[in-house]
Amino acid sequence: MTELTCIVCPIGCRLKVDEKNNYAVTGNACKRGEVYGKNEMQNPTRVLTTTVAIDFGMHSRCPVRTDGAIPKGKLFEAMDILKKVRIKSPVKCGEVILKDILHTGIDVIATRDM
Ligand code: SF4
Repeated sequence: MTELTCIVCPIGCRLKVDEKNNYAVTGNACKRGEVYGKNEMQNPTRVLTTTVAIDFGMHSRCPVRTDGAIPKGKLFEAMDILKKVRIKSPVKCGEVILKDILHTGIDVIATRDM
């Protein structure tokens, strides 16, 4: 049995996931917690939020995020790639900065106009 805190919403339910019983989840107040608990044990993923360097912008860094969750085990590798990315202003919120990061099928997008 593994104990987790559900991070899907601010309530933060304490979950218990039973690996020996098909990853049965208890302690969740809603269905989203069950899905989170099962995924977290079998294939944990996260949306990556960070910044990339930008030239000619009002600031030197532009906030970006993945447009979906990527495997948790690839977060550091994705950060290494994004450290080397340098874009030019103007950039629109939602604009794709990097397509298909690490062949995940997930794009990195800008999260503000700059
Ligand atoms: S189980 Fe549901 S209510 Fe509880 S923290 Fe997760 S999403 Fe929120």
